[in-house]
Amino acid sequence: MEKREQLYEGKAKKVYATDDPNLVIVSYKDDATAFDGTKRGTIMGKGAINNRMSNFLMKKLADAGIPTHFVEELNDRETLVKKVQIVPLEVIIRNVSAGSFAKRYGVEEGIVFDEPTFEFSYKNDDLHDPLLNTSHALALKLATKEEIAAIKSMALKVNDVLKAFFAECGVRLIDFKLEFGRLPDGTIVLADEISPDTCRFWDAKTNEKLDKDRFRRDLGNVEEAYQEMMRRVFGGQQ
Ligand code: ADP
Ligand code: UDP
Repeated sequence: MEKREQLYEGKAKKVYATDDPNLVIVSYKDDATAFDGTKRGTIMGKGAINNRMSNFLMKKLADAGIPTHFVEELNDRETLVKKVQIVPLEVIIRNVSAGSFAKRYGVEEGIVFDEPTFEFSYKNDDLHDPLLNTSHALALKLATKEEIAAIKSMALKVNDVLKAFFAECGVRLIDFKLEFGRLPDGTIVLADEISPDTCRFWDAKTNEKLDKDRFRRDLGNVEEAYQEMMRRVFGGQQ
């Protein structure tokens, strides 16, 4: 597969065209940002970890019947994926209170919910990704009713599969963000990434944070936490 021009550079990844108009190459960077891009830094080795972990999880989800953009891991940092039109919604599922949920509703972190919660943010950097509900998403024509129903049911299934998998790794899946996209025929597939940048992971025994919160909150041992998650996920398979 021929790598062509860079189409986009985001905060954590670059996207390149290929000689196939339906495929793009995603290249993962070590750059880290938080708080709407106001905090910036580097997490050494993050790009390779997120690339490999996201691909591993996407394959697991595909095996469970969830369609994804994943095609082929090309090297440490680069992966070939189906080019999609991203639905501009950040889909957030939570099993336990943390982060903006705890702040917004004035509760402590760590409350275990009876049922997972589901929410959308409007993926729009200029507007700082505001929270929005289904009727707002429909009013703004960000997605159709059918697409939103498909996204919701896939996101909850992703949670079931990943929660069970991470439990086997000794990790609690606290919350995470997903993005979905449309293939040329309109099919909705899971896109973007699933990694310690986009999930909260707590050690099952100690509740130690093993994700980007170590960077956001200056907790130290950031690289070590990403490496530990890699060991937990891949076990002896690395
Ligand atoms: P951001 O845009 O938030 O800074 P990234 O640095 O992760 O995020 O950039 C990756 C971009 O690629 C994101 O905008 C994401 O929505 C987009 N993307 C992810 N998967 C695909 C795909 N399969 N096809 C096209 N775009 C994608
Ligand atoms: N998240 C993300 N990208 C975003 C916002 C959130 O990947 O732009 C992830 C975040 O890592 C966490 C979950 O979504 O796992 C819920 O994040 P929250 O709403 O609590 O926001 P935050 O605390 O990151 O501001």
